[in-house]
Amino acid sequence: MSRRRQIYEGKAKILYEGPEPGTLIQYFKDDATAFNAQKRGTINGKGVINNRISEYVFTRLAHIGIPTHFIRRLNMREQLVRQVEIIPIEVVVRNVAAGSISKRLGIPEGEPLPHTLIEYYYKDDALGDPMVAEEHIACFGWANNEEMQDISSMAIRVNDFMCGMFATIGIRLIDFKLEFGRIWDGDYSRVILADEISPDGCRLWDMATGEKLDKDRFRRDLGGEEEAYQEVARRLGLLDNEGGPSEVLDLGAHRKLRTKK
Ligand code: C5P
Repeated sequence: MSRRRQIYEGKAKILYEGPEPGTLIQYFKDDATAFNAQKRGTINGKGVINNRISEYVFTRLAHIGIPTHFIRRLNMREQLVRQVEIIPIEVVVRNVAAGSISKRLGIPEGEPLPHTLIEYYYKDDALGDPMVAEEHIACFGWANNEEMQDISSMAIRVNDFMCGMFATIGIRLIDFKLEFGRIWDGDYSRVILADEISPDGCRLWDMATGEKLDKDRFRRDLGGEEEAYQEVARRLGLLDNEGGPSEVLDLGAHRKLRTKK
């Protein structure tokens, strides 16, 4: 059997050549990084959970008419996706102040923003993904105006849908990051949603307790990251037990029980 060709290795995923032209296999790793890879670690089982969560979210987004690169999940850690020309912009949507906006502008974490904000960051590890304005994107030709219109309207639709989806399972969607890519049909291209949507790239707070159910547990050394990711998957109905908010979510107690065993 010939070894499949690796196309790209990122911090949390590997892309392999797919079985058909124009397809790729997206492999989800357990590796976790933060602060532009200055902090590295692993979250056991993260790849398996993110593969499932991302499959679920992308499938639901397709149902409301958002075009995505997702084709189907292949196994525990892999999914088949459409090959895109990635647009080198990270699109961050924020509903509530947290993370870098709180730091940059001195807004207390947890303060709802007057309205939803979309920010753009230039994808460049060496530069630390600097925030850019739409003018920079147009000036340097990273995406044209029509593409930016599509990107911003899709980002808002994804946000509206995901706010509702998470609210029904007792989770507040604070912010998240999206990536988009171009697919070509002859001389014409269109923009579709790419990458993944998982607790790695979203801030998800339990509505009742405010517990963080996302990668901030790793970034801020809070512990309980495996349990947090599992809890999101469980509430979405992706694990054996049924979805819905758990009666008490106390990750601290959860951890104590685990370490006692
Ligand atoms: O760090 P910051 O507050 O700008 O992050 C905003 C949102 O975008 C968070 O949900 C974070 O997980 C996500 N993000 C990401 N990848 C990055 C930067 C931010 O997934 N490189």
